[in-house]
Order: sequence, then structure tokens, then C-alpha cells
Amino acid sequence: MNIEKDRAVFFHYTLTDASGDTIEDSRSGEPLGYLHGHSVIIPGLERELEGKSVGDQFEVTVEPAQAYGDRDEELVQEVPDSLFEGVEDVEVGMQFRAQAEEGERLVTVTDVEGDQVTIDANHPLAGERLHFDVEVTEVRPATEEELRHGHIHGEGDSH
Ligand code: ZN
Repeated sequence: MNIEKDRAVFFHYTLTDASGDTIEDSRSGEPLGYLHGHSVIIPGLERELEGKSVGDQFEVTVEPAQAYGDRDEELVQEVPDSLFEGVEDVEVGMQFRAQAEEGERLVTVTDVEGDQVTIDANHPLAGERLHFDVEVTEVRPATEEELRHGHIHGEGDSH
């Protein structure tokens, strides 16, 4: 069965950055599953998966525009640490969920100077050219329920 719109697709992947460092490797766990044709995964990878079937392996390099976009320096802000209510010590590397116009965003603390905190709302992989090494492990038709929800369900979960 080939990968096309409304199929549930499972694949293993190794993600490396431009300098060859491994960022993620699914092979230590379960394959990643997604509903094809619904923009669930980055466009540059979804396009390469189109038409593939179980057992197919391929490598693809995805430019930032087809992955997590370019970095936007306007998403880097300095804020007072009094904004972090309930957090005793705000430290570099901490991540928080913040409400933004377009929905929830993950922000990362990148600097702390006295009571000023620098936060970055760019996706951690924004601006990165990504390299994927992919192996397709399962392709099946999505269920009616999965299509209604716009995502696939694993065993025993029906959220
Ligand atoms: Zn669901």
C-alpha cells in the first residue's frame, strides 16, 4: 500500500543537523505515526513520503522553509523575572508554554541577567537545515474516527 492522503503512516527516522549531529533517533523506541496529507509533520518530509510503501528507505535534506521556518529575531524578548510567577529560580534552558495570537508557543529561556530574562519563542529547530534518514514501517488506511480527529490513534487510545 502506497502512502497517500488519509493513510496512517509509521516510520523510523534519524534526524541530524547540518553539522551531522544527531538530534533525534526514533529507533530507540516506537516508530513515529502520523496521518498523511494533513500537515501533521513538516512539509519537506511529508512530500518525500508521498507514494512510498513499507520497507522503503530514503534520505532527504529539508531547508528551513520546508521545516520549522527561519528564525525570527522579533520572537526574542527581554522580560522581567516577576513574570515567572511561582518559579523560584529562572534558569537558562528552561521552557515554558505561553499564549500567543496564533495559539500556544513554547518559549525557551536563553539568558538571565539580574532580574531581566531573555526568552526565545522560535522553534528550537527554526533556521536549521535538517537531514532525515527514513524507513517506512507501516501504512494502513486511517479509520473514520482518526479522519474526524485529524490524527491517528495508537493502541488503546482514542483521544
Ligand atoms: Zn483523536
